[in-house]
Amino acid sequence: MCYHLVTFSEYTCGHQYPLHRQLMDCHRRICVFSSNHITDKHDCTNECILE
Ligand SMILES: [Zn+2]
Ligand SMILES: [Zn+2]
Repeated sequence: MCYHLVTFSEYTCGHQYPLHRQLMDCHRRICVFSSNHITDKHDCTNECILE
């Protein structure tokens, strides 16, 4: 499944803040968030997953 990889950086006081957010692609054809998601006409609601 796709997920966001968040890199944290730290203030001098010790608190952390999100520095960088990167989408990790699962590369599955049936995943609607994936860059490999089927581009051909298909039944997306029934065949694909939201992951
Ligand atoms: Zn995915
Ligand atoms: Zn689809």
